Amino acid sequence: MLDGYGRNISYLRISVTDRCNFRCVYCMPPQGREWLDHADILTYEELLRLIKVWNGEGVTKLRLTGGEPLVRKGLVAFIAAVKAQGGIEDISLTTNGSLLPPLAHDLKAAGLGRVNISLDTINPLRFAKLTTCGRLEDTLKGVESAMVAGLSPVKLNVVLTEALTMKDLAFFAELVYNYPIAVRFIEYMPIGGAGESRAPDIATVRKLLDQAGRAMLKPAGPVRGNGPAKYYRFPKAQGAFGFITPISEHFCGVCNRLRLTADGKLRPCLLSDKEIDIKTPLRSGASDRELVALFRAAVAAKPEGHTLCRASGFPDFGRSMSQIGG
Ligand code: SAM
Ligand code: SF4
Repeated sequence: MLDGYGRNISYLRISVTDRCNFRCVYCMPPQGREWLDHADILTYEELLRLIKVWNGEGVTKLRLTGGEPLVRKGLVAFIAAVKAQGGIEDISLTTNGSLLPPLAHDLKAAGLGRVNISLDTINPLRFAKLTTCGRLEDTLKGVESAMVAGLSPVKLNVVLTEALTMKDLAFFAELVYNYPIAVRFIEYMPIGGAGESRAPDIATVRKLLDQAGRAMLKPAGPVRGNGPAKYYRFPKAQGAFGFITPISEHFCGVCNRLRLTADGKLRPCLLSDKEIDIKTPLRSGASDRELVALFRAAVAAKPEGHTLCRASGFPDFGRSMSQIGG
């Protein structure tokens, strides 16, 4: 389905829960967030219906996110049910990886294609501080389990924070030489009460990576997925580096997605508070045709782009990133 600016909206990011076993400082306020009641979260049956109806409108790619999607019970069976329903070509997951090891094989068997795992530093103390309640070794085991299970390609999401050091960059450089992993650096977005960051900027990270590798990075083609990352490779490396710059160099012109929050709101743009309520009509007996109309209204409401930049400051978006899904 084309929006008003000629963009083909084929990708839906579904936040299956707002709950999380971590409390990353850039994602939630320090006191955490009050969780939604279970009754306020869309059931798997409701999600399956929406996916089926909106598949008819051209949604063929799904990403499951959170909160932490793996804290929600029944995700494997849900993915299998999406697959069995047909029409969806690509199902992916964004996770902090900590709960992945016992589930990776079953997720793959159910039809999950690939995973993005958040890993911002490989220093255990900095990792613990950044995530508040996470352990580095759990996430590293999650990365390993994803690779062993064949969830491919594995992508690592590294939000740029002051926790990132030259040692981390050297580790990531070795990783992409030796494994077909994509390591993507994401500009920090000051959303919904997340603390301010004194992070290195993307240009600095690129220069430091040139120093960390055995040669200079070269521009490369896209790595499988739907994303806005610009990719670079070291010659002869198996993996790649991606740079995602929602603020300094936004990619609104190629934005192909809508977001569905765990409490059933369709969000046309990550960086705008406009939301369209799906849950109320869904639970009040809306017909498929009405659900299609709501989807079309969300597509029509997609702004051409955001105009936020560091200099102008950021409004309070009402929700934190953990409530939107990233
Ligand atoms: N819990 C899962 C995880 O951490 O991967 C999925 C949800 S998380 C909200 C999705 C993505 O958003 C993660 O890669 C996370 O690093 C990123 N993210 C969270 N807060 C962010 C922020 N303020 N700026 C940029 N990215 C952020
Ligand atoms: Fe949880 Fe992911 Fe947010 Fe960290 S980034 S608090 S793991 S939802």
